[in-house]
Amino acid sequence: MDVLVIGAGMVGAACAYHCAAAGLRVTVLDRGGVATGTTSGGEGNILVSDKEPGPELDLALLSVRRWRILGERIGADRLELEHKGGVVVARSAPALAGLADLTGRQRACGVDAVDVTAGDLPALEPNLTRDVTGGAHYPQDMQVQPMLAAAALLRAARDLGATVHTGTEVRGFLFGRDGAVTGVRAGSGDRAAGWVVNAAGTWGGEVADLAGAPLPVLPRKGFVLVTEPLPRVIRHKVYTADYVAGVASDDAGLETSVVVEGTRAGTVLIGASRERVGFDRRMSLPVIRELAAQAIGLFPFLADVTLLRTYLGFRPYCPDHLPVIGPDPRVPGLVHACGHEGAGIGLSAATGHLIAQTLTGATPDLDLAPFRPERFAA
Ligand SMILES: Cc1cc2nc3c(=O)[nH]c(=O)nc-3n(C[C@H](O)[C@H](O)[C@H](O)COP(=O)(O)OP(=O)(O)OC[C@H]3O[C@@H](n4cnc5c(N)ncnc54)[C@H](O)[C@@H]3O)c2cc1C
Repeated sequence: MDVLVIGAGMVGAACAYHCAAAGLRVTVLDRGGVATGTTSGGEGNILVSDKEPGPELDLALLSVRRWRILGERIGADRLELEHKGGVVVARSAPALAGLADLTGRQRACGVDAVDVTAGDLPALEPNLTRDVTGGAHYPQDMQVQPMLAAAALLRAARDLGATVHTGTEVRGFLFGRDGAVTGVRAGSGDRAAGWVVNAAGTWGGEVADLAGAPLPVLPRKGFVLVTEPLPRVIRHKVYTADYVAGVASDDAGLETSVVVEGTRAGTVLIGASRERVGFDRRMSLPVIRELAAQAIGLFPFLADVTLLRTYLGFRPYCPDHLPVIGPDPRVPGLVHACGHEGAGIGLSAATGHLIAQTLTGATPDLDLAPFRPERFAA
């Protein structure tokens, strides 16, 4: 086996597909099922709009291009990939000034960000509150159904010869005399591999510990609300300008900044909260109420809509908000693809592509230095 991928979430699936498509022999192991980790606990936005200029935006721009290619190769329908675009709304003069500053800096990096006036917004979103000062339109933002997309990429990887084993927990690593990883202890036996990819998401730190190469990946909890199915009343992914600050915040306490989007099934997804409270799975009515109130503030008609359910997930959070991507110089043979926090669905396509380039000796399309695993030691 050339490559053994730990984790059958969105990131592991993207790594498996891109490595198999590059001609590598791939095995995927997951202790649960396909997409049973955070991939089933979030939304499916593929965003450039919420990224400040820097390495994460570069990764997001590459990912948008790679998702377009995946849509063509695998079929947009099979991924529920929609090129729907994003709309960011400012509700005060200072928020609008901050948004205009951000769009200007993003445009300089290649983002298609269009400033729009309050008068332009109803044409983009007819049901949006009129209590707005302006906004921005991001045509490059997209959306997938994450669980379908992970399953579709794994199926495509299998069609290229990869094998996928669910219900198989990795409990340790195998090492050669030179200290390099030669495989894993998993399920009922040992499995040899030239490279082991840690795509264990929020559990990426635990897996890295098993290899003796610590990584500070922590859970950042978030709730999502799901409405009853509706006709197409929300056309884009819509959120307020405060959202970007909320995503970038280092505060462990509760933070909510609402994101509203329609899905192909007709349900409207309302996200998302952020708090670092470990793996606490308890429901919180105050958080649900706050998100619902913020969503009604943006789309007043939602006040008369019924919620079907809520769910939660744990984003894989690294202290500098950047994922860990690439070979670990501390343990040869170990490669990381984890810690994507609230953007792992969107960033998975570029991550899988970059991992496949690295493992086949090609020059990666993007400099991996900002994502290097050993950066936390310093
Ligand atoms: C509320 C919320 C909203 C979100 N919204 C978005 C969004 O709109 N857009 C976006 O891009 N991202 C979003 N995210 C983030 C996104 O969901 C995650 O970044 C992404 O799912 C991470 O995928 P992953 O494959 O790395 O991890 P996971 O999906 O968690 O997969 C890791 C897998 O590793 C397996 N595993 C762990 N340990 C072992 C082991 N020892 N042996 C074998 N298997 C193991 C687990 O079982 C799991 O299946 C959101 C997250 C939340 C919580």
